[in-house]
Amino acid sequence: MHLISIVVPCYNEQETVALFYDATSKVCENLKMGYEIIFVNDGSKDNTLQELIKLYELHKNHVRVIDFSRNFGKESGLLAGLEAARGDFITVMDADLQDPPSFIPKMLEIMETQDIDIVGTRRVTRKGEPKIRSFFAREFYKLINKFSEVEIVDGARDFRMMKRSVVDSILRLKEYNRFSKGIFAWVGYKTVYLEYENVERVAGETSWSFWKLFAYAIDGIVAFTIAPLRIATLLGLFISGVSFVMILFVFFRTLIFKDPVAGWPSMVIIIMFLGGIQLLALGIIGEYLSKTYMEVKNRPSYIVRKTYE
Ligand code: UDP
Ligand code: MG
Repeated sequence: MHLISIVVPCYNEQETVALFYDATSKVCENLKMGYEIIFVNDGSKDNTLQELIKLYELHKNHVRVIDFSRNFGKESGLLAGLEAARGDFITVMDADLQDPPSFIPKMLEIMETQDIDIVGTRRVTRKGEPKIRSFFAREFYKLINKFSEVEIVDGARDFRMMKRSVVDSILRLKEYNRFSKGIFAWVGYKTVYLEYENVERVAGETSWSFWKLFAYAIDGIVAFTIAPLRIATLLGLFISGVSFVMILFVFFRTLIFKDPVAGWPSMVIIIMFLGGIQLLALGIIGEYLSKTYMEVKNRPSYIVRKTYE
């Protein structure tokens, strides 16, 4: 008999995990295969762990809980869940029911009847989300897709079902800075997307502030393209070229017209402009250097305090 694993990273989700379990298990009971739900408690500060242990005590044959030693972020939670999953089909879902469990049978059906390895989901609307956030999100996708070698689909959620072989491939990517949207796209495989309208979370609050998302976007760009480094190089080349022409111009003008002191304002402007560009380029290098530093340290992505299974 086949097994489906459902991986659920949870951070401060005390109100939602029980609701999530009820809704999801109801759907899974009707599948013609076994199921396991792997909750990863990502260092929650509320009673999420107690709620999860309650679920585990009640449904030992379907629930597994991985408790992190602190908050390591959703990406680490996903990784821990994927590593623990034993299923032939593996699904990744949010705890807040923004990912409708009713999609699971549909996804399985597509996998079983067609030659497809991944069924993803994408939101076609961003209803209920602040306008400014939607704007930045769309610009982010435009930017990263222009430069990165893999296509990251706009609005694609992490909610997806994958075959065992896909998850094995994902786990071969050992990087510390994990940008899942990119990693999912990078491994390739035959993918179809189901589309749906944005659903708001059932309870609790999103843990993503605008700045957290902004930092996440920078992480994604740094993780999946080196285009900013190249832009810095090209900018440097261009400015050097322009400066060379200007040097010749100023040199000969001084020789011919003997006019050495004029042009102080323009000089200050140029110095400031170049100083700005240099700092920007240094900052870009710093972004990549810091990521390299973290990779070289080779730390584990998460630490497990205890597992319940
Ligand atoms: N999450 C997590 N660790 C974190 C932040 C979030 O495991 O540090 C989980 C969270 O519990 C939820 C999922 O990641 O199951 C998505 O988070 P959220 O709903 O806050 O994000 P949104 O849906 O607003 O993008
Ligand atoms: Mg959510």
